[in-house]
Amino acid sequence: MPMSQEFKKRLLPGLENMVAHFGTPFHIYDETGILDTGHALKTAFSPMNKFMEYFAVKALPNPRVMKIMMEMGFGFDCSSIAELALSRQVGASGENIMFTSNNTTDEDFAAALSNGGSIVNLDDISLIPKLPEIPDLICFRYNPGPRRSGNAIIGNPAEAKFGVSHDQIADAYRQARERGATRFGLHTMLASNGLNHAYIVETARMLLSLAKWLSEELGIRFEFINIGGGMGIPYRPEDAPLNLPEMSREIIGLFDDFRSAQGYAPKLYMESGRYMTGPHGVLVTKAINHKNIYRKYIGVDACMSALMRPGMYGAYHHIEVAGKNPTEFPTETVDVVGSLCENNDKFAVQRTLPKIDEGDLLIIQDTGAHGHAMGFNYNAKLRPKELLLRRDGAVELIRREETMADYFATLCFEKNILTR
Ligand SMILES: *Cc1c(COP(=O)(O)O)cnc(C)c1O
Repeated sequence: MPMSQEFKKRLLPGLENMVAHFGTPFHIYDETGILDTGHALKTAFSPMNKFMEYFAVKALPNPRVMKIMMEMGFGFDCSSIAELALSRQVGASGENIMFTSNNTTDEDFAAALSNGGSIVNLDDISLIPKLPEIPDLICFRYNPGPRRSGNAIIGNPAEAKFGVSHDQIADAYRQARERGATRFGLHTMLASNGLNHAYIVETARMLLSLAKWLSEELGIRFEFINIGGGMGIPYRPEDAPLNLPEMSREIIGLFDDFRSAQGYAPKLYMESGRYMTGPHGVLVTKAINHKNIYRKYIGVDACMSALMRPGMYGAYHHIEVAGKNPTEFPTETVDVVGSLCENNDKFAVQRTLPKIDEGDLLIIQDTGAHGHAMGFNYNAKLRPKELLLRRDGAVELIRREETMADYFATLCFEKNILTR
């Protein structure tokens, strides 16, 4: 069930026209689907009255989509200066932005603290003295190490470069308080693409019990707990979706327990990327070549510069062929490939699909997060355009495709030679 039936109904009838008007390949995002998911998330946590989603900008750093997040009252999770700039450009500022960097530079800190500031989420205890000034509100990213397991995408916490270790976390808050911080938040980000709600509930439980311990140890209160992103989506037809209602019910229960014991409860923050936009984007690409050697190959007009996940993680992305229902059409087993000189430039490996003719449109699904954004220019391959299927039915170009001029832009520099 990767792509929703509703998205399909909105996309397919106009697809030929979109292709005729804009040309392939393109990613197209479904505004209605994004809004529906955002409202479902807000509704799930509405009994808390203190919930905030900070959309993880890296998942889909397009201002037009970020505006949709703003409209829903969401903030932004950033980890680079450009992501901060994007967030501010769409109107977010101050505590509507979390800055979760790692291996942070002085320039990063300066950008995070200027132009209305942001919530600075420190990745290490050694960064406290490197902050040019300490903001009132400070947050640390906690790494539980061997206390928790992670997963393949993000790695095992004990081997992950992120966050403050368990042994240093109390000292981190102590030092921040000594420098002048008066308000505190606590963050973690452990697993990625998790479909098991119990794991995420466990993360909330872990942070709440850590907050309780730190409060007692240091006599501080926590304004918020940020359980990170990492909520998964069903990429494979057989995957069951994350049980959001059950997850929120259990997390709300944990916060109620905390309130009974401590006399207050922090706010709950979350920074989902994939969950918000992943299922609401597809990559539309045209079959342009057939090849029959030891395997059958279908060559398409997009390549991994448009979607790295299969090549990078061996990730599955469901593919449908427009107008060819696999239950009614003869099928064959193929590899769907791009044109990069890398054998991992494959959107699908040994996939059974309806027999594809040149000119057929392939709909590569769940590309709404970590799709276009992750693309790069290896082999001088250019990234495709992005479109938005708006809720009024119109289709809007929200990023043009890269051109040769973009690729050459960094080469046209002034002479800069160090003679020796
Ligand atoms: C990537 C990232 C996210 C978003 O992850 P998703 O899997 O897209 O939800 C959230 N927080 C941090 C710190 C991240 O690095």
